Amino acid sequence: KEEKNENQNHDEIIGRLAAFFAHEIRNPLTSIIGFTQFLEQDQAVKSNQKISQYLSIIKDEALRMESLIQELLILATTDFHKDHLSIINVKCMVEKTIAIFKMQPEYENVQFSTDLPDEIYITGNESRLKQLLVNLMNNAIEASEGECLIHTRLKKEDTDVWIFITDNGKGIPEDLIEHLFSPFFTTKEEGTGVGLPICKAIVETLNGEMSIQNQQPQGTQVRIRLPLIKNTP
Ligand code: ADP
Ligand code: MG
Repeated sequence: KEEKNENQNHDEIIGRLAAFFAHEIRNPLTSIIGFTQFLEQDQAVKSNQKISQYLSIIKDEALRMESLIQELLILATTDFHKDHLSIINVKCMVEKTIAIFKMQPEYENVQFSTDLPDEIYITGNESRLKQLLVNLMNNAIEASEGECLIHTRLKKEDTDVWIFITDNGKGIPEDLIEHLFSPFFTTKEEGTGVGLPICKAIVETLNGEMSIQNQQPQGTQVRIRLPLIKNTP
């Protein structure tokens, strides 16, 4: 029990440290991004190709840092147990999430297919659960080689619902699977490695569980189990 307390204290200190640095870095970063945007409009800058090019790199990297810090803040400081909960129709939630992707032209080549029975209800925070699905679908898209297919299936089982998200991407080397949920584990040059730890926290806060495995002959499958609302027929 003492060990558990110690771990909790440890987590709390890390959380506060992370939050402190994230806030301190975010302010100067906001100035950097603001001034690069300002400079980009400058005539002298516009007419100098080299400076424009360097400036655009500075801006992109600063934006990348900003999103990393944003995610770090979520991971380190959010108490998911404090989220406002409501009754969620899982089918609607999946459909709304897919619609978010379909609205964006950069995803027009992604093929979404579904098998979504209706009348499946869970308790949860709607925007948090959408974030969960967005993170997983982003990973699927980032793993794709060529045509990207993402299949989402729901299955009721006793007092739970299973959500399966399957892609046809490059899959995951077996020896890396145990590390996927560790904060900051990433195999991507531009990755942050916080997507899956956040997903796991969201699911576990709702007393669910999730796992990831390779799919034969190709691709990856994410499995999420979440408890149904009691009294669901
Ligand atoms: P990030 O996407 O920033 O790398 P995540 O926590 O979302 O961080 O994912 C961690 C790692 O898990 C990824 O870098 C990738 O190696 C692996 N991964 C996650 N989802 C998939 C997927 N659908 N297909 C292949 N690899 C995946
Ligand atoms: Mg990710």
